[in-house]
Amino acid sequence: MATRREKIIELLLEGDYSPSELARILDMRGKGSKKVILEDLKVISKIAKREGMVLLIKPAQCRKCGFVFKAEINIPSRCPKCKSEWIEEPRFKLERK
Ligand SMILES: [Zn+2]
Repeated sequence: MATRREKIIELLLEGDYSPSELARILDMRGKGSKKVILEDLKVISKIAKREGMVLLIKPAQCRKCGFVFKAEINIPSRCPKCKSEWIEEPRFKLERK
């Protein structure tokens, strides 16, 4: 049986997903689930390097003013520019080199 990280790797090789989407697909509930996914993604980015893949990050964006965050494995809670908490999550995808 595939582990959660293996399932995430399979999904990201086929398309791009946000942490919330991954949590939903993997049937993870509760407040901590996105945090678990982010931790998995950090591990996956290291595995990817070892296995000749690259983790692509579409950065988070403020849905109010359009501010684009740094491309990193994190979900920002608040826009530094307009202070809005209406944030589009980053999206992740794996590509083989
Ligand atoms: Zn903003």
